[in-house]
Amino acid sequence: MIDETADATRKMQFLFALRSRGVTDAAVLSAMEKIDRGLFVRGLFAERAYEDMPLPIACGQTISQPSVVGLMTQALQVSPRDKVMEVGTGSGYQAAVLSQLARRVYTVDRHRRLVREAREVFDALDLANITAFTADGSFGLPDQAPFDRILVTAAAEDPPGPLLAQLKIGGIMVLPVGQSDTVQSLIRVRRLEGGFDYDELRPVRFVPLVEGLARDE
Ligand code: SAH
Repeated sequence: MIDETADATRKMQFLFALRSRGVTDAAVLSAMEKIDRGLFVRGLFAERAYEDMPLPIACGQTISQPSVVGLMTQALQVSPRDKVMEVGTGSGYQAAVLSQLARRVYTVDRHRRLVREAREVFDALDLANITAFTADGSFGLPDQAPFDRILVTAAAEDPPGPLLAQLKIGGIMVLPVGQSDTVQSLIRVRRLEGGFDYDELRPVRFVPLVEGLARDE
């Protein structure tokens, strides 16, 4: 009983923090209510999973701050028929949130171990519309392209050309751009008939998009 009350309180605080930081889209909030972030944070930091902060995960990477996940998801304007690609699986949390909003989610990370661990959580939650790959996501996923939506959760200096090319006309890509160690800018790119339209959303800080597969395992 006590645990249930504590759980409900924690969940309310989590959703309240999201709303107060500008996550107002009902579908996004409901997706984030369903997906338990605690399942994506292992070890020492697991008990802090419901706080609005980024946390360390394996391979020296980080799971993003929940409000940033919410704001990026909201900016992506996902609809239920969409095929979405995420670059930077990390813990798998963002992909799981997307899986509640889209028809199909493809996610890719350069770390084999992160992909393996994320798949375990997707299986445990029965999130059958997510496929996770180990690959260099800066080249996108040519076999699955084109995509209605693309979300990049690691920072590049510029939007990678192959990702722009794998976006459908009418499609939207959200990604952080800028010098890797300083503050980056979250931008939204729309692909139009005749080119691309860019708008700048907010400052963010992400780990860098790194070339090639990781060799540390
Ligand atoms: N979206 C994640 C957090 C991402 S952290 C979550 O919800 O937990 C950024 C991730 O991008 C890291 O896991 C890192 O390994 C990955 N990454 C960096 N460069 C990459 C590349 N070129 N291709 C694929 N993944 C990359």
